[in-house]
Amino acid sequence: MKILTVIGARPQFVKAAVVSRAMLKSMFIKEIVVHTGQHFDENMSKIFFDELGMSLPKYNLGIGGGSHGENTGRMIEAIEKVLINEKPDYLLVYGDTDSTLAATISSSKLNIPVAHVEAGLRSYNRKMPEEINRVLTDHASTILFAPTSKAFETLINEGIKPEMVINVGDVMFDAALYFGKLSEDSASILDKLNLKSKGYVLVTVHRKENVDDVDTLANIIKGLGLSNKNIILPLHPRTKKKLQELGIRLPEKIRVIDPVGYLDMVQLEKNAEIIVTDSGGVQKEAFFHQVPCITLRNETEWVELVEFGFNKLTGSDATKISLALNCPNESILNWDIPIYGNGNAAAKILDYFKVLN
Ligand code: UDP
Repeated sequence: MKILTVIGARPQFVKAAVVSRAMLKSMFIKEIVVHTGQHFDENMSKIFFDELGMSLPKYNLGIGGGSHGENTGRMIEAIEKVLINEKPDYLLVYGDTDSTLAATISSSKLNIPVAHVEAGLRSYNRKMPEEINRVLTDHASTILFAPTSKAFETLINEGIKPEMVINVGDVMFDAALYFGKLSEDSASILDKLNLKSKGYVLVTVHRKENVDDVDTLANIIKGLGLSNKNIILPLHPRTKKKLQELGIRLPEKIRVIDPVGYLDMVQLEKNAEIIVTDSGGVQKEAFFHQVPCITLRNETEWVELVEFGFNKLTGSDATKISLALNCPNESILNWDIPIYGNGNAAAKILDYFKVLN
C-alpha cells in the first residue's frame, strides 16, 4: 500500500515522526513524504528530520512566506501534480495547517481517500485560520483519527458517520513518551543555557491573534514582565518579525533564544516550573511532562486540560498572566488521567491500513 503524507509545519513534523517510524518498520506500507515548505528555516524544519528518524521528503514544494490564500492556492496546485504522479492509495494529513487543508482539497478532488490525524478538534473560534482548516479537512476526509473521546463525539455530533471515525489516542502522546526518553540521553540545552531544573518558566507565543496586534502582544509581554520569574522564550520567526515591526522591547528577565529542536524542547519542557504558551501542541506536552500550563488564549480546543485544572486560560490579559504565574495550578494532585489514549496511537493508525491492505 502506498501512502502519501503531506506535512509542512513544525507541529506536523513531530506528529508525523511517530507514524512515519511505524510505517518504516512495517512490511506493507510504502510512505512518500511531501514537504510543502510552509516552515522552511533550518531550526523550524531540517532539524526535525535530522533528529526524529522519519522518512525524508521525496518532494519539497518550497511554498512558504506568502499569505494564507496565496500559499493554500499554490499548494493545492502543486500537490495535485504530485498526487497524479504518485497515485497513492491514501493521503495522510495531520492537524490544522494550510498544508493540511490544501492537500485534502487536492486529494478529494482526485477521489483519493484522505486520512486525517488529530481530527475533531474545535476551538469554536472561526477567526482562527486553524479552525477553518480543521473543520473543512474533517468534512472532506474519508477516515478520521480522533485523539480523544471528546473529539470523537464532536465529529459524530457534526453528522460524520461513526464508521468513519476512530479514537486512536493522540500521536503527540506517543511522541512525548518516545522522544521524552531519548531527550534524557541526548539533549543538552539545560547545560548550554546554564539553567536549573524548575528554575525558569518556558514561554512560546506565535498565534496570529496574539502577535499581529500591537496591544495584544504588548500586554502579553507586560504580563510576563510583571511576574517575579525568569523566563526562557524560544522565539518563533513570526513573533520575532512582529516584535521588530511593532517596536516592542522585552524586559531583561525574558531570555530570548532561537527556536530549538524537538529533543531540546522536550528537555526545556520537562524541567520548566511552569509553561506559558499559545501553542496547541505545547499545552499537551506540558500535561504529558506534568508541568502546570498557562495558555495565552481565551479558549482552547484541548478543553479537557482546562476542565481537569492542568491548564489555565488567561488570554492576553497582563494582570491575569502575572497572577497565574505567581500562583500556578496549586491543586493538581493526580496527573494520571488517560485523556489521550495509551501512547499507541501510531500502531492503531497502522492497524486501520493493515485491514485495508
Ligand atoms: N517546538 C520545538 N521547538 C521550539 C518550539 C516548539 O520543537 O522551539 C515543538 C513543540 O514541542 C511542539 C511543536 O513544536 O511539539 C508545537 O509547534 P507550534 O507551537 O509551532 O504549533 P502548534 O502546536 O500550535 O500547532
